[in-house]
Amino acid sequence: MTDYRIALVPGDNIGPEVTAEARKVMEAAAGRFGLALDFTVYPWGAQHYLDTGAVMPEDGPDTLRAYDAIYLGAMGDPARVPDRVLSWGFTQKVRKALRQFVNERPVKLWPGVRSVLANPGEIDMVIVRENAEGEYTNIGGPLYVEQEEELAIQTAVYTRKGIERVVRYAFELARTRRRHVTSISKANALPFGMVLWDKVFAEVAARYPDVQTRRLNIDAAAMFLVQRPAEIDVLVSANMFGDILSDEAAALAGGIGLAPGGNINADRSAPSMFEPIHGSAPDIVGKELANPVAAILAAAMLLRFVGSAPDGGERARNAVRAGDAIEETVALLLRERRAATPDLGGTAKTREVGDAVCALVGGADPHPSPLLKGEGVAVGARQ
Ligand code: ATP
Repeated sequence: MTDYRIALVPGDNIGPEVTAEARKVMEAAAGRFGLALDFTVYPWGAQHYLDTGAVMPEDGPDTLRAYDAIYLGAMGDPARVPDRVLSWGFTQKVRKALRQFVNERPVKLWPGVRSVLANPGEIDMVIVRENAEGEYTNIGGPLYVEQEEELAIQTAVYTRKGIERVVRYAFELARTRRRHVTSISKANALPFGMVLWDKVFAEVAARYPDVQTRRLNIDAAAMFLVQRPAEIDVLVSANMFGDILSDEAAALAGGIGLAPGGNINADRSAPSMFEPIHGSAPDIVGKELANPVAAILAAAMLLRFVGSAPDGGERARNAVRAGDAIEETVALLLRERRAATPDLGGTAKTREVGDAVCALVGGADPHPSPLLKGEGVAVGARQ
């Protein structure tokens, strides 16, 4: 009997490479905790678009709706397909169709990982980004194309409901953490949308007197993030600001090769979708250079999310255990620098990192695998 059905969309370039490692690790953890996972692979993305004219079939979102969760590798193939075709042909479509209104991006400076900052302190934050509105609505259009007067209108959309649900999510999350929420806006320059954002944020904040708040303009936030990242617990923001800040934050904590993300349907009326936040990295495809840790941590997020459904019973407890075990194993390997890919200054290959996590998380081999030899230094850490 299957406990959870998971749709896998590996995507393009390094997407399939890191998805293979994430799947391997989920299977190893599932085996250890008696969890039956069933995976179905959907080969959607750039090649599907070139073959059929669509990034995924018309009924793709309905197909995905039948699963407990969706796992996405990465989409992108800039040499052959414009990025916007893939983004609007898959990611944006799924986020909206399956009501994944929250994008949750944890950013943690794991012990053993070097920050680009000299004194980063303990970076441990979650960026909660509005995932359906703002600047990413595809409302607008061009006029006078290729003429002297050529213009483009790109409309940003903010709704009370859209802001309220993501801000509420941020406050609920903060209650499970350090009870602090930082809100990002820019009401002085964007006096309609961002004024509404600030107003709704203040209303929701009033309902959470036990949670402290801070409000920053986006430009000040870009500085704050670099100067005082350890002071941020939960950061909530509109779609584009959050997109930018989460890459900046990831860069402070070891790079995008370590950063996972979840597109969350908070009321669980449809499945949520988990992915590494990095793109398809065409520059390193096929070379075993991709760091699969972001993808593996996204798998841990997936398991913990499905396991945290109310009244989930034994299978849910096992899913949470499996997710926790994956994250703990990754933390151990990073702390001891035993599985560092080149982006972390090591020489470990994509597959070797996945193997190392599996060997430990599966519990089958409590002893260091050949890969882990070297008194806690090994796996290609550049000395
Ligand atoms: P896309 O068009 O799909 O967004 P991109 O190349 O514009 O792709 P990313 O894929 O995020 O953007 O890559 C940005 C940089 O980070 C590239 O140099 C890439 O090689 C590197 N990178 C991305 N993901 C990883 C990873 N998992 N491990 C190592 N390096 C990575």
